[in-house]
Amino acid sequence: MNRFPLPLKYALPLAVLMVLMSIVAQLYLRPFVGEVVFLAIYPVIFLNTWICGTLPAMVSLLFAFFTVDYLFIGPSQSIGVYEVKDIIRILFFLLNNVLIIWSLHRMRKAEKESGEHLIQALDSELRYRTIVELSPHIIWFSDKAGANTYNNQTWYEYTGLSYEESRNFTWSKVLHPADREQLITTWMNAIQEIRPFEIELRLKRRDGEYRWFLARGKPILNELGEVERWIGKAVDFHEQKMAITTRDVFFSMTSHELKTPLTSLKLKMQVMEKRIKDQDETVQDLDQLEKFVESTLVNINTFHDLIDEMLDVSRITSGKMSYNFSPAKAKEIISNSVEMVSNQYATQKVDLLVQTPHEIDFQGDTQKITQVVVNLLTNALKYGDNKPVSIKLAKQEESLTIEVADQGLGIKAADQKRIFECFERIEGSKATGLGVGLFIGRQIIEAHQGEILLYSKSGEGSTFTVILPLKRS
Ligand code: ADP
Repeated sequence: MNRFPLPLKYALPLAVLMVLMSIVAQLYLRPFVGEVVFLAIYPVIFLNTWICGTLPAMVSLLFAFFTVDYLFIGPSQSIGVYEVKDIIRILFFLLNNVLIIWSLHRMRKAEKESGEHLIQALDSELRYRTIVELSPHIIWFSDKAGANTYNNQTWYEYTGLSYEESRNFTWSKVLHPADREQLITTWMNAIQEIRPFEIELRLKRRDGEYRWFLARGKPILNELGEVERWIGKAVDFHEQKMAITTRDVFFSMTSHELKTPLTSLKLKMQVMEKRIKDQDETVQDLDQLEKFVESTLVNINTFHDLIDEMLDVSRITSGKMSYNFSPAKAKEIISNSVEMVSNQYATQKVDLLVQTPHEIDFQGDTQKITQVVVNLLTNALKYGDNKPVSIKLAKQEESLTIEVADQGLGIKAADQKRIFECFERIEGSKATGLGVGLFIGRQIIEAHQGEILLYSKSGEGSTFTVILPLKRS
């Protein structure tokens, strides 16, 4: 179809030639068709318009008009209109052919315009698709009932799902089970009420980790106001969500944990105040006074330690934790740490077995490593079911290991990674704590280019092993 109309330089002579041929045909047909002198011209003008274009067709019509007039109208071989019937015939002839040319011209123009529109539409569709595909966010489409029909590349890269697995509702297997119900309710309401929706949900990454997304959906309506399909976007806002959650947990945990020693301290002080007011003689008793001071100091120390932990977390999260790396002695660190927890162990009558065969020199921050060991020993006491605890120091070729083992309830495999995160505790833990000790410990050991390993089985106790390089690279 695109071959026509022909270029003007071919079209014009061809159009005239075709008219000439039709005139010849007309001459031969004359004995049969008599007065119908334009019969052969109509199809030729039609063909000319189609093949040669509007302008050559008009020229050929003009040529045909004069030729027909010259040969067939009035006295032969003269130009002019002589009778009324000739005027009418000529007018009809011209009118019909102009109509033929005009309608074909309009048809061609409309076709060209719609072709251009199609190209434009395809072009913008292509641009739009490229934008959608290149988006770092997940973009999806679904039919009016909410069944998935399209996902961009980001979706496939993130979830690792195949095209088939992403169709309809099967994609929901990457949705966190805890978010399923809320999503269904929100989306079904949006579908019913034909309005946009927004929801926070967790989607499983191809490596199995869930991340938080802020998902938004919007109905696309047709001219009748009916939903044609849904378009949606899901933006990964995991870090922001975590920061908000951490802040919330931080406030609730710290206020709760700080309140406990403070309330106890307040009570003791109130009792003391009353005794003084009542002029109770025991207030004068030095032994009683010493006991009182000792027990209040325990509360103050707990309070102090909690604030220290909070400060450490804030230093770590803001990247402001500073270290004093200098020559350090591992055996000494362990002896000091054991010394620091010995009172607590003695109070709870728990045996602590220490195996530190010889001194091991290494490069590190003595105070910070002591803090880690004390936390491990305190945890072994807190969660060790009052059974004996052991601490062992050993040297490998280029590293040293400190192993703290208890025989408590142990830690389920599912929790073993989590408890090293900030504010993570095992549900039902009776002992108090912020859930930050192991988090701080891991950060400190990693800053020393070492690692903390955990080996534990439910019901069989836990062994935490700190591995430290002798020299930092
Ligand atoms: P905290 O003890 O203050 O809660 P930690 O970060 O030191 O904080 O420990 C995190 C959680 O890990 C604890 O709440 C506890 O549930 C668990 N945990 C730590 N050490 C042990 C252990 N030796 N045995 C069993 N569970 C432990």
